[in-house]
Amino acid sequence: MIQHAHTAREMAASEIVARDSAPDRDSRRWQDEMADLVTDPTELLALLGLDRAQLPAALGASDAFALRIPRPFLSRIRPGDPRDPLLLQVLPGAPELEVSPGYSADPLAEGEANPVPGVVHKYRGRLLLIAAGQCAVNCRYCFRRQFPYGDNHLNRAQLRAALDYIRAQADLREVILSGGDPLVLNDRQLARLVDELAAIPQLDKLRIHSRLPIVAPSRITDTLLGWLTGSRLKPVLVLHCNHANEIDSAVRAALQKLRAAGVTLLNQAVLLKGVNDSAVALEDLSEALFDAGVLPYYLHQLDRVQGAAHFEVDDAWALALVEQIRQRLPGYLVPKLVREIPGERSKSPL
Ligand SMILES: *Cc1c(COP(=O)(O)O)cnc(C)c1O
Ligand code: SF4
Repeated sequence: MIQHAHTAREMAASEIVARDSAPDRDSRRWQDEMADLVTDPTELLALLGLDRAQLPAALGASDAFALRIPRPFLSRIRPGDPRDPLLLQVLPGAPELEVSPGYSADPLAEGEANPVPGVVHKYRGRLLLIAAGQCAVNCRYCFRRQFPYGDNHLNRAQLRAALDYIRAQADLREVILSGGDPLVLNDRQLARLVDELAAIPQLDKLRIHSRLPIVAPSRITDTLLGWLTGSRLKPVLVLHCNHANEIDSAVRAALQKLRAAGVTLLNQAVLLKGVNDSAVALEDLSEALFDAGVLPYYLHQLDRVQGAAHFEVDDAWALALVEQIRQRLPGYLVPKLVREIPGERSKSPL
């Protein structure tokens, strides 16, 4: 366990974004949203008209892994409904504090595939660059809920070492900016990073793994489109959306801008009990994604991280669900059901 000077709940309120010194109006808007996250369980329950009996559990669980929700996401949660599929993804609760056998702090053994700080290199031809330790939203099922974020916040020298490592991998074609959420970095930081990557000749793709376009679509600014599509690297954005209700008109508009700029849009979802573990929910998600210009890519079986056991869907039911949606949807709207197994050379199909 990492020793923090403050509890996770206190840290949630601190700034997660390094602000531009002179932001334009678009940048100010998303950066203001990031500075105004809902981080207090008392406020969350009050805003949604939920029973205060849940408060002690929410406070306890948010001490271990902070509550953090951008307000645009909050507005898509149905008030007064404790079973809302978006609420369940973000509300801390007592089951997180139960210790479950078979669940661990580092279920993906990423500690072992960390050649230099900030780089996770497990698969051939592509690697993860942990560009930012923070996220705009804290998803309760996240496998990084136990991850030593602090250790992976890159300083200048570490970033240089990570780029040196990338440069030395002759068979690498794609760098995946991951996190945390890489889009909590500001556009100046990201533009500089993309310049460095574009100068590495063996790379031809730039991939971003981000939940920000879903939870705070104002992040998709013209400045972002500039660095994302302005280099010689082909841009791919893999979103993370688990339920059709996460896609509202603001999200659709942001995704439309990305599509129009030539960004390939894919989605990965996590199969989550109570959230999207029905054929109807998965079918609606695929259709809503397609309507917004996004193709479903992966449907992940949960990584067995301590504190997330209550979200797990068993493999037999997961396979049955995918079989049901395969019969209802065109093949391109059926995501690949996968699990990440440490030591494998790719995600493993179930
Ligand atoms: C998931 C993952 C990738 C990307 O895998 P794809 O199958 O190409 O989407 C790359 N590196 C690591 C360490 C990963 O966990
Ligand atoms: S956005 Fe992704 S990395 Fe961040 S908390 Fe959610 S699941 Fe975890």
